Amino acid sequence: MRQYYYGVILLNRYENTQTDNNLKRIFEDESAAHTRYMLYSRAAEEEGLSDAADFFGRTAEEKLGQAGIWLGEMNMLGNTQQNLRYAIDTEAANQETLRRAASDAANEGFDDISEKFLLNMNVSKGHESNGRKYLDSIENPRNETVEAVYRCNNCGYEHRGFRAPDYCPLCGYTRRYFRRSFWR
Ligand SMILES: [Zn+2]
Repeated sequence: MRQYYYGVILLNRYENTQTDNNLKRIFEDESAAHTRYMLYSRAAEEEGLSDAADFFGRTAEEKLGQAGIWLGEMNMLGNTQQNLRYAIDTEAANQETLRRAASDAANEGFDDISEKFLLNMNVSKGHESNGRKYLDSIENPRNETVEAVYRCNNCGYEHRGFRAPDYCPLCGYTRRYFRRSFWR
């Protein structure tokens, strides 16, 4: 994926062209295919068809790679700081889509799926707010106002605070084994 890293936000040189529309469409198609094949792979795994599961899994990986090419062409694959901004924007848009979908479904008498859309919207809100916290922690690295849970990747020990401990009190591994989680 690194070869599509530009480092700065460049204008999308295809903006307002049919090629730009086509890029969006192709990106969406490849992304949807990636998701479908991942789900088909899981289904094949559950049926005990491991060769088919591997076929779907490999194809899904290639679809992901292809989607990455087109996302890069649209200049929507940048460094992590930029990607967090893209993620925050798309999660916000996703919530609006889900909110409208829930309202449409309720109006059409599909109360059960309407509720699921709202539950999905709440998960998406969590993604957006976590994205903002990660972005803040990159833009303000000494900002100690963001309290988080740090989890040791080696033993699972959880530490709550403003930074990971230097050493895990349980297994003794260094702080680079800790991963931050803002959930709590
Ligand atoms: Zn540990």
